[in-house]
Amino acid sequence: MSYVKHLKCITCKSTYKEKHDLFTCPSCGGKGILDVIYDYDKIASRVNKQSIEESKEMSMWRYMPFLPVEPDWTRPPLRVGWTPLYEAKILASEIGAKSLYIKDEGVNPTASMKDRASAIAATRAHAEGRRIVACASTGNAASSLAGCAASIGLRSVIFVPRRAPRGKLVQLLIYGATVVSVEGSYHDAFTLSAQAISRWGWYNRNAAINPYLLEGKKTVSFEICEQLNWEVPDWVVVAVGDGCTIGGVYKGFYDLYSTGLIPRIPKILGVQAEGCQPLVKAFFENRPFEPSEENTLADSIAVGVPRNPIKALNAVEFSNGTMVAVPDEEILKAMPLLGRTTGVFTEPAGAAGLAGLKAALKEGYINPEESIVVIATGNGLKDIVNAEKAAPEPIEVLPSLEELENNLRTKAPDLLKEE
Ligand SMILES: *Cc1c(COP(=O)(O)O)cnc(C)c1O
Ligand SMILES: [Zn+2]
Repeated sequence: MSYVKHLKCITCKSTYKEKHDLFTCPSCGGKGILDVIYDYDKIASRVNKQSIEESKEMSMWRYMPFLPVEPDWTRPPLRVGWTPLYEAKILASEIGAKSLYIKDEGVNPTASMKDRASAIAATRAHAEGRRIVACASTGNAASSLAGCAASIGLRSVIFVPRRAPRGKLVQLLIYGATVVSVEGSYHDAFTLSAQAISRWGWYNRNAAINPYLLEGKKTVSFEICEQLNWEVPDWVVVAVGDGCTIGGVYKGFYDLYSTGLIPRIPKILGVQAEGCQPLVKAFFENRPFEPSEENTLADSIAVGVPRNPIKALNAVEFSNGTMVAVPDEEILKAMPLLGRTTGVFTEPAGAAGLAGLKAALKEGYINPEESIVVIATGNGLKDIVNAEKAAPEPIEVLPSLEELENNLRTKAPDLLKEE
C-alpha cells in the first residue's frame, strides 16, 4: 500500500480521496492544483534514516514510502535519480562561498531532472493499463517522457512548437515518440495537446496539472539530505520556469521534516532569467504573476505563463527563501565557470542556478558562511548552440610544433612552463 492519505487543493484546501482521473480540484478548476498528502505518522513508524540508507535501490525508488506508487507496480527500468552531489571547493573559492555542492541532474537517463517526474508518470500510466502517454513541451519534459515510456513499453505522443531545438527533437524521435510539430507557439502546442488528450483519453503528463509528477521531482531533496548525512544545507538553489521543479524541491524537504527525519527546511533560492521573470516580479511585488515575454536563451525556463505559480511562490515563501533574476550574459558566463571548476557541463537553465547564486551572494541575500547546494538541472550537450556562445575558441594550427608554440606563447603561456 502507498502512504498517500489524500489530495489537497492548494487554492481552497478541500481534500479528496485519490482517484486515478482526478488531477485538479473540481471546484477550482485549473487554479486548483492538488498536493499529494501522505500519512506522515505512519511513514515515521515504518521508515528511519537507517532503513533508507540500507536500501539497495540506487535510484529515486529508494524513497518508495514517500511516493504515490505501489511497490509492486511495474516501473521504468531506467536508473532515474541517485545522481551525484559534488563538493565544489574550487568553485566555492572563486565565487566567495565556503561550503558549496553541485547536484548533477544531467546524468539522469535522458539527461535532465525531468526524468524524476516522467518515471512517476510512466509507472502510474502503466498501472492504470494505459497504452499511450502524452504531453506538450519544448524540450526536456518531452524527451524524458519519451524515454521513460519507451523503457516500459508505452507509446508516447509529444506536441512541440515548430521552433523546438533540433537536439531535443532528435532525442524524441530516437526514443520512438510520435512527435507532433505544431505551427505556432508553445502555448498553441499546449492547447492542442490538451484537446487531443481529452478527445482520445491519453495519459496526461502535463506536469502542473498531473499532481503526481512533482512527487517524483521531490526525490532530489531526499538525496541531497541523505548524501549530506542528513545535515540540512542552509540554501538550495534552483532555476524556475513553470514552477514544478522548485515546488518539488520544497515538497521533498517538507516530507522529511514532517516525518521527523530532518530538523528544518533549507531556504530555497528560485532563479529566473531577466528576460522572463514573471515569478520573481510576483514574489517581490507580492501579487499574482503577469504573463511575460520569453526573452532568454535558457529555453527550459523561457516560460512566460508559468503553469504552477502558486506552488512555486509557496516554496520560496514557506522556506524563507528568496528569488533573483539573472541576465543571459551571466547565464552564459556561469556555464564555462561551472565546467572549468567542477567538470560538470550543464545547459543554460542549469547554469542560471549558479548565476543566481553569484547574484544572491553579491546582493547579500546569501551569507558566504552558509552552506549551499546548487542543482544543475540538465546536461549541457542538450543545447550546444547556446553553449558555443559561452565557450572560448579552440587554438587552430597546422600540424606543426613551431606553430603550436607560437600560438601557446600568446594564448596560454602558462602551459609552456612545465619542463
Ligand atoms: C524544466 C526545467 C527547469 C525548470 O523547471 P520548472 O518545473 O519548469 O520550473 C529547469 N531546468 C531544466 C534543465 C529543466 O528542464
Ligand atoms: Zn479547490
